Amino acid sequence: MDLGIRDRVAVVTAASKGLGRATAQALSAEGVRVVLNARDEAALQEVAAGMADAVVVAGDVTDPAMPRRLVDAAVERWGRVDIVVGNAGGPPGGRALEITDEQILEAVNANMLASIRLARAAVDDMRSRQWGRICFIASASVRQPIRDLALSNVARTGLWAWAKTAAQDLADDGISVNLICPGLHATDRLIERGMTGRTGDPADFGAVAAFLCSEQAKFVNGIAMGVDGGTVTGLL
Ligand code: NAP
Repeated sequence: MDLGIRDRVAVVTAASKGLGRATAQALSAEGVRVVLNARDEAALQEVAAGMADAVVVAGDVTDPAMPRRLVDAAVERWGRVDIVVGNAGGPPGGRALEITDEQILEAVNANMLASIRLARAAVDDMRSRQWGRICFIASASVRQPIRDLALSNVARTGLWAWAKTAAQDLADDGISVNLICPGLHATDRLIERGMTGRTGDPADFGAVAAFLCSEQAKFVNGIAMGVDGGTVTGLL
C-alpha cells in the first residue's frame, strides 16, 4: 500500500535504535525525508546511511531547545515539516510510592514535555499547508499501568491527555495528533530489562506508526493506538 506521503518531511526523535529507528525507517521506505535525532551521532549516521534522504541532528531531546532545533533543521534543509514523531528513552523503574519528586519531574520532561515541545515547534508550519501528522510513541501503560514503571505511567498519561486535547484544536487545520502505544517489543531497552515472553518486531511497529502518519489516516485523530499483541486486557 502506498501511504501517499512520498516527499513529505518528518522529524523523528530518539531514532537511533528500537521503535524510533523502526518508525524512521518505515517513513523513509515510503519516500519521506527524515531528520533523525538521538544523542549518539555515530549511531544516527549509521541509520541515515541506510536511507535515501536523511539529516542527522544529534542532541538530547530533553533539552527544551532541542525540538525547535530539529524543526528548524527540517525547514532549513527541505523548506517544511509535515510529520513529527515524538519519542524519548524510557524512565527508570520504580513503584508509585518509591518515586521521588525529582524523578517525576525528569520523566515528565522527557516523556511528556519533549514531545509537546516538538508538536508546538512544528504546528505553525503544518498549519500553513493545512496538513500535518503528529504521532507520539508512548506505551501500553496509558491503558494498563505497569506496577513497577510508575514514572512511565504518570508521564505518558499526561502526554495522552495533552494529545487528546490538542487533537480537537488542530483537526480543522488538517493536522492529526495520535499516540501509538507499544506493548513489549524486542528492542535494546527490553533486552536490557531482561524481559521474556511474546514480543513484537520493531519493524512491524514502525509500519503501524508510518500508517498513522499517512495520507489515508487523515480521519484518524485523537486516538491511542495499541500495538501490543493483545496483551492489554481492558475493554477501552
Ligand atoms: P531503545 O531501543 O532503548 O532506544 C531508545 C532510543 O532513544 C535510542 O535511539 C536512544 O539513543 C534514544 N534516546 C534516549 N534518550 C534520549 C535523549 N535524552 N535524547 C534523544 N534521544 C534519546 O528504546 P525502545 O525500546 O525503542 O523504546 C522507545 C520508547 O518506547 C521508550 O520511551 C520506551 O520506554 C517506550 N516503550 C518501549 C517498549 C518496548 O517494548 N520496547 C514498550 C513500551 C514503551 P541515544 O542513547 O543515542 O540518545
